Parts: sequence; C-alpha cells; structure tokens
Amino acid sequence: MAKSSGETKFTLKLVVDEERKKVVFAEACRDFVDVLFSLLTLPMGTIVRLLENHRKSEPVPVGCFSNLYKSVVDMGTDDFETEACKQILLYPRSLRDVQCKRLKLNLHPAEGYKWFSCGSYNCDMCSGFSTSRCRCGKLMNKETPMSGAKVVDYNIQDGVFVRGRSSFIITDDLKVAVRSTDLVLRKLKSVGCGDLRKVSERIVEIGLDEVMTLLECIFSSNASLTDTFLNKQSPKGVMKPCTTPSPYMEKEIEARPEEIITFSAIVRKHDMKILYVECKEDFVDLLFTFLAVPLESVVDISGESSTLVCLGNLFKGFKELSATEVSRSKAVLPHYYKCQKQLLDIITERPQLLFRASDDELLDLIDPKSHGRDQSKKGSGFVKRDARFTVSDDLIITPMNSSSALCFLKKLESPTEDIQVQEISISKTQAASLLRASLVTSSALNAALWNSTSKKRKQET
Ligand SMILES: [Zn+2]
Repeated sequence: MAKSSGETKFTLKLVVDEERKKVVFAEACRDFVDVLFSLLTLPMGTIVRLLENHRKSEPVPVGCFSNLYKSVVDMGTDDFETEACKQILLYPRSLRDVQCKRLKLNLHPAEGYKWFSCGSYNCDMCSGFSTSRCRCGKLMNKETPMSGAKVVDYNIQDGVFVRGRSSFIITDDLKVAVRSTDLVLRKLKSVGCGDLRKVSERIVEIGLDEVMTLLECIFSSNASLTDTFLNKQSPKGVMKPCTTPSPYMEKEIEARPEEIITFSAIVRKHDMKILYVECKEDFVDLLFTFLAVPLESVVDISGESSTLVCLGNLFKGFKELSATEVSRSKAVLPHYYKCQKQLLDIITERPQLLFRASDDELLDLIDPKSHGRDQSKKGSGFVKRDARFTVSDDLIITPMNSSSALCFLKKLESPTEDIQVQEISISKTQAASLLRASLVTSSALNAALWNSTSKKRKQET
C-alpha cells in the first residue's frame, strides 16, 4: 500500500495473458480484499449515489435501483410521511458503517452518528436525524451528546472482514481465494496459459477511482479486472436485461393479511405485458425499502448468483473468507426501516439505549418516520398514507396527483380495448423475486410478476 498526495493506493500484481490481453488473476493483500468485500456491504441506494457521482455524464445503471433512487429524488417532501423519510432513503445507513471505519480505503465514509433533540430538558426524546419532530412539536435540530457509546469487539489479528493475514488471489471474474501454488497453477492451466512465456506480470496502483470502476464492473462485466485495469472502463450494455420469469412462483403458501400487498396492474391483453401498476403506499414502501438493503443481502434474499457472475463470485468469497458470520438467516437493517408490511426477509435492529451525556437521562429514540405530536401512530411507512402511486415496469414511481389519467393512457399508445386492469396480490415470494428482478433486469414488474398475470389468462379462457 502506498500513499501519494494523501490518497490511499494499493499495489496489485496482475498476471496478464499478453496474447489475449486479459488479466488471469491478481495477487492482493488482505487490506485490499477487505475493500473489495466492503462493496457488498453498501446499501443499494448508496451504490446508486456513488456510481452517479463517479460518472456524472453517463452513470452505469444498476438494474431498476437507479430508477427507484431517482423516484425518491424527484418526489416532493410532501409526498413523504416526514422530511426525514426522504433523507433516510437518499442516504441509507448500514449497520456495517462502524465496521467499515477500519478500512484502509473507505468508499463511503459515514460520518460519526450524531444525535439530536429539541433542546428542551422537559422532553426525553432523541433522533438520529435533525429533520425529525419532537413530541412537543419542535424540530429536533439541537445536537445532543450521548454517553455510553457501543463498544465494538473485534480480533486484532483479523482484517475488517477477512480472517487472518494471508495474501490472496483474485480472478478476472472476482473469485477470491487464499493464495497457494496449487491454485495459481490450476488457474494458469485452466485458461490455457500453461506456457509461462505467454503471461507477464504487471504492477498496478489502485485507488478510489479504480475501486469505483470495479464497483461498476460488478454490475456490468464478466471480466472485472481486465475491464478496470486494461480497458480502463466498465463495459456498457453488456449485461442483457433478462426477462425470465422467476422459477419459484408455484408453491404459494397461505400468507397472512399483513403479509399481502394488493394493487392493480394495467395489462396489455394481446401479450399480457404489465404496462404499469397503480398502487397504495404499502407497495411503494416495499420498493423504497430496497434502497436500504445492502448488496450482500440482496444476493442473499433473492438467491441471485448466476446472472451477474462477478457479483456471485465475490459474494461466495465473502462468505467463505469472512472473519465474522456473514450470512445470518435474515438481513438486519437499522430500526427505522421497519414498515407496517414487511414482505422482505429482513429484520430491523432494536434501537440502542441512549443516555443524555449532560444528565444521564434515558432518552426515547423516536422513529424518524413518525410525526412528533402523535407518537401513538408509530411510523408505519415512508410515503404519505392513503396516497396512490403509479409504478412503471422499470420501477419509476410517481404520485398519482402529479399526472392526469388520460395523459397516462395516451402514453401507452395501445387501443383501449387491448388494455385491461387486473388485481394482483403479492406476498413474500414475489417480493423476493421483485428484489432479484430489480437487480438483473430493467423490466422488474414483468420479470417478477409474469406468472401472476399469465395464470389469470388461463382462468379466463
Ligand atoms: Zn420536545
């Protein structure tokens, strides 16, 4: 690792197949592997934001997540339950932020968590967001120091994520393994480089910029190292949007009412394509939750590991080499991402106990989704209750008050007799396939709900 002009840079040894102009593998230190694994811990909303900043003119889209993020940006504060709701979606926090502080190169250095209150000693409430409202109605914008910070326990021998102190091999498609002669030989032979005269070694420096390109490549390339270091850019338009219907739709278990979301799908009859969906706040809350889910949990929940090869490989290495337990049965998010209907396999962390430093008073941590005065109505979701929204196939979400019905129908360019409206109910299974489809296609509704509409067609005939 070298430091030049203040920026941390890692040194990677690339083994390059000179004939084919391809990286066979790279040798890397543990600290760099930690940085690589940290990409998986970023919430999807953070990934979208980082990629947009990296390539402002032409950011690499991440499935439908980029549209979801843009929908939050475009929606007015009035469309959300509170001002803080928009903030927690645009700047999602992760429970791994604290861990990531130990990285030698942190793509997303989260500020130390600050706590806020309304400033009155009669109130015993605090919030992690300065845009929250207190029970007394005042804005909670006074920074309030707390005592008794959490102590994070870790083994000093281990890296941030990686166990031990080995050096590592990273293949072009991001398989990560502990370096051994046996592995190096097998890798060289498998790509037809048994003749060592064909390969050469190159030393490259990798800093923030290159790590960002690697992050792009996770979503767009099958040869991430070659694209990052030899081609110096991520490929565009390589990953074809796949519209294969989700394989696990058939065995549907009876779901409880709180685990079902119902909405209307506007369907084109001749090919049963969903043109858009008209829904209430519960479906939008579900989709917006996607932005807070870390990439590792998206892979875990959706079981997606085959379409995006580099992502699948990286996740496998993360699980195998990790110093801590990576795959819990469910993803854990900060407490305020809990919505009334939780269809994804996530749990929210119980808020920690907070004591005001000045007088050791135990403060009540409020849900930034709730309104200050009425704490009985705990924050039930991100967007306004009793509102209606439209959601396009590629997950652009628009409040229905902002466009006219006729304008919408005209945009479809389909004769009215070819359009029908179907009621669709989804539960946990479809929510997981929606999450998966959002990652790998630009046609999430049709990819994930295809079976739901085609079944209806059979019933009708
Ligand atoms: Zn107050």
